[in-house]
Amino acid sequence: MKEFLKTKGFKMTPQRELVFRSFFELGRHVSVDELYERVRQKDRSIGYSTVWRNLKLICKVGLAEEVNMGDGITRYDRITRDLHGHLFCVSCKDVVEFKAETMAQFLADKARDLDFEADGFKIEIQGYCRKCRKKNR
Ligand SMILES: [Zn+2]
Ligand SMILES: [Zn+2]
Repeated sequence: MKEFLKTKGFKMTPQRELVFRSFFELGRHVSVDELYERVRQKDRSIGYSTVWRNLKLICKVGLAEEVNMGDGITRYDRITRDLHGHLFCVSCKDVVEFKAETMAQFLADKARDLDFEADGFKIEIQGYCRKCRKKNR
């Protein structure tokens, strides 16, 4: 990671390393608040803006991307090669992933048909998960 950052023109500091490590421990769909909580469990001296700045850096060097589920909270997802979609429960804010290769292929073909050069996809389904539907019945 240290070497990787150096090739991108950034240097690794202990604080930065902690933020990076915490992000990758949390896994997927992490909000700034969640990451901040996690970092604070390990080092109380790190401020919110440091966490936020480093999260932006993780995106900038191409290790994560912003995802917006439409509830006003920006989450950050590790960039992986497997194309996936999101099921987002608007009630409990849970995010479940599903494989979306065939759909991505369809979208890529569609873009090509319309003479559009696709640069990325977002496949998101919003609604209510089973748990929340049961609760509201
Ligand atoms: Zn995801
Ligand atoms: Zn739910």
